[in-house]
Amino acid sequence: MNRRKFLGVTTSGLGLLALSSFPAFAARNTNQGPVQFEVPANTGINGHIVVLGGGMAGASVAKYLRLWGGTDVQVTLVEKSATYTSNIMSNTVLTGQRTLANLAYTYSMLVNHYGVNLVTQEVTEIGADSLLLADGTILDNYNRLVIAPGLEFDLMPGMSSLDEYDTLIPHAWKAGPQTALLRDQLINMTDGANVVITIPKAPYRCPPGPYERACVIADWLKTNKPNSKVIVLDANADILVEKDNFNYAFTVTHAGVVDYRPGCMITHVDSANRVVSYDQGLSSYTVESGVLNPIPPQRAPQLLADAGLLNSPDGRFASVDVLSYESTATGKSGIHIIGDASNTTMPKAGHIGNQQAKTCVDAILRLLQGQQPDQAPVTNSACFTPITASTATWLSAVYQYDPGTKKMVIPAQHNSGTAISATAATTRNYQDMLTWFNTLMGDTFA
Ligand SMILES: Cc1cc2nc3c(=O)[nH]c(=O)nc-3n(C[C@H](O)[C@H](O)[C@H](O)COP(=O)(O)OP(=O)(O)OC[C@H]3O[C@@H](n4cnc5c(N)ncnc54)[C@H](O)[C@@H]3O)c2cc1C
Repeated sequence: MNRRKFLGVTTSGLGLLALSSFPAFAARNTNQGPVQFEVPANTGINGHIVVLGGGMAGASVAKYLRLWGGTDVQVTLVEKSATYTSNIMSNTVLTGQRTLANLAYTYSMLVNHYGVNLVTQEVTEIGADSLLLADGTILDNYNRLVIAPGLEFDLMPGMSSLDEYDTLIPHAWKAGPQTALLRDQLINMTDGANVVITIPKAPYRCPPGPYERACVIADWLKTNKPNSKVIVLDANADILVEKDNFNYAFTVTHAGVVDYRPGCMITHVDSANRVVSYDQGLSSYTVESGVLNPIPPQRAPQLLADAGLLNSPDGRFASVDVLSYESTATGKSGIHIIGDASNTTMPKAGHIGNQQAKTCVDAILRLLQGQQPDQAPVTNSACFTPITASTATWLSAVYQYDPGTKKMVIPAQHNSGTAISATAATTRNYQDMLTWFNTLMGDTFA
């Protein structure tokens, strides 16, 4: 207890810094990169919000709390890494089209332009009204806490340590060293050996992502390992999203290179020998691979379980009131959870994390003023999917609050209540994907 330091973030201290740095609310076109906005003064809103996790959801919430709340809304962002590496587009690192370095984003704009107070530390405990950091610091003295830590990954049956993902069978479902390892393994694989990708039962991060990965690896194999193929073992009964597009990609565009097998329950993973056993229907199979890429089942981090925040029906995610993203767990008012760790009807996606952040910010700013959150929030989701090195498809949906179910649903007037998707993989979509990606990342980090 004694070695714990107290991080005293005083409202006045940060307020002075912010006031002198950010005089007026005005758009400024920088000629390079996205338009940046100034943090407004004198909005009449006061408070201190702490944000745990600076990924797609957390960085967005930190930025927009300042941008919409003004200089008297103090924001402390606690993020364990100095830079953020985007998962979005990370499948193209596997094919050598991008590097991890050009998917890296810093927090310098959030700090220097928007006046966010950045603490580069890991949160090790979430208390009732405080956070314990890895260096012993206790962070308290805040009005509300926003938690956006992303996900953790389960062991697959037969595995004994998470280290096996770092050294032998990378899942690369969090962009970083495992992405580089998977790329190296693909390059070094013997031509004629197969890549095996396993897909967990939904919900998991980025519903189209595993199918996208199968496509871009297949495309790369055609040129680099023409005698190899990709075997996809999907725990789901069928392709989950963009079924027509992926079916076409697997059976026409990449015919003979992708072997898609639905309804596969993995029963054993031998990481040393890269062998997978699975049940499909009443039959059991074993498949060998040159590269094994198991995408494991996912859940909100243990940190949240320890804090009593994982109250979804399966106990793996945090249920929230989607008007404010405030936890619905007993006794957890003032704690908001957004992004992949939350349990909502919307996909676990970076674009959705950014959208949830904005609804959450709007609600917090209203709550700080003694008002109720907006009762009719709308979000939208967009996901572009490379199918080859130069073509892509997309998937998009609008979600609206339904007071009856208290859930975000796709309204009936939008494509009869379903997501819409591209009619074909095109080069135009590929160009649009790059624009969408740069815009989303700029909206989050710049
Ligand atoms: C291959 C792939 C492709 C994808 N493609 C798309 C796409 O095309 N479109 C799309 O919308 N989404 C896509 N996604 C999904 C998207 O990346 C995630 O949904 C999104 O990153 C989730 O945002 P988040 O903020 O919840 O979590 P993250 O982005 O993972 O951020 C969590 C942050 O919290 C920090 N953190 C965690 N624990 C702590 C702690 N204890 N203390 C301090 N900091 C902590 C982490 O360091 C991290 O920076 C893709 C994902 C993958 C894997």
